[in-house]
Amino acid sequence: MTAIFDMSREAPRAAGLATAVEALRAGQLVGMPTETVYGLAANAADGAAVARIFAAKGRPRFNPLIVHVASLAAAETLIELGAAGQALARAFWPGPLTLVAPRRPGAPVADLATAGLPTLAVRVPAHPVARDLIAASGMALAAPSANRSGHVSPTLAYHVADDLGDAVAVILDAGAAPVGVESTVIGLAGPEPVLLRPGGIPRTDIEAVLGRALVNPAADAAVAGPGMLAQHYAPAVPLRLAATDVRSGESLLGFGPEFLPGSDMAKAIVNLSETGDLVEAAASLFTALRRLEAVGAPIAAMPIPDHGLGEAINDRLRRAAAKA
Ligand code: AMP
Ligand code: MG
Repeated sequence: MTAIFDMSREAPRAAGLATAVEALRAGQLVGMPTETVYGLAANAADGAAVARIFAAKGRPRFNPLIVHVASLAAAETLIELGAAGQALARAFWPGPLTLVAPRRPGAPVADLATAGLPTLAVRVPAHPVARDLIAASGMALAAPSANRSGHVSPTLAYHVADDLGDAVAVILDAGAAPVGVESTVIGLAGPEPVLLRPGGIPRTDIEAVLGRALVNPAADAAVAGPGMLAQHYAPAVPLRLAATDVRSGESLLGFGPEFLPGSDMAKAIVNLSETGDLVEAAASLFTALRRLEAVGAPIAAMPIPDHGLGEAINDRLRRAAAKA
């Protein structure tokens, strides 16, 4: 059962915040009103909680999520903004602007939230309920739009309930999302600022602050494609799919309780989930790939079932295998 609270009245508002914070601490998901659309929020530092976002949305792929924080200062603990980023933040935060910038080493954000990328998308929302939830939880909140994959973004609380059902533990109902479209996403990790996604803040307003034109994603091969993100993390070592043995010189990316023939000779073994739990496997996928990449040996990946989060895990493993 999803708990829904009317945030326009004082008593349910207090109860809603308390219940939502409890849910976030337990690794559950919260339907969070923001000024753009309703978000599906989880503790960004908790990989299993972030994995539940993808499971709830039924996404066949992992894409990087926007992490919501309270202030520019909080954002700067997670990413390196640089002069252009700071100028944009000062002009438009809190508000419907997302900045993608190099992630700081050790920033407490699950690798799944960035889909393994060295960059991180951060936003400071303006909606009072989102701000209160971030403050009351003391967390950075990873939140994509709170709709099932392929549906339109939710601008009312009942859209969230209809789309996600029991997968969302708590919904904070603050009425209609005032902006109603997603945030504008600006990429700051390259040589020049790129418009990764048009949204709530017009391009010309951003260009006025920057004093220069934004690079168009269509004109930039690195950022074209579905979700406007063709750049994906893939390990720099070869990866062999659906392995039924470990060959000489290989590392093993394991799944489940079984050991493959040749495991005892593996250069390294990382098991995504010894119990065969797909949520746990998704939560550890990108960290596991990075650890095995650091070992430097080719990777033999055990088969992963293709249901639930397995579909997105297999999508990413297939891309990694194709790249090698
Ligand atoms: P949503 O979570 O649905 O609001 O969408 C997030 C948007 O931000 C998508 O368009 C992503 O492609 C983009 N995004 C998030 N993180 C990154 C990143 N690290 N690099 C590039 N784009 C990103
Ligand atoms: Mg979306």
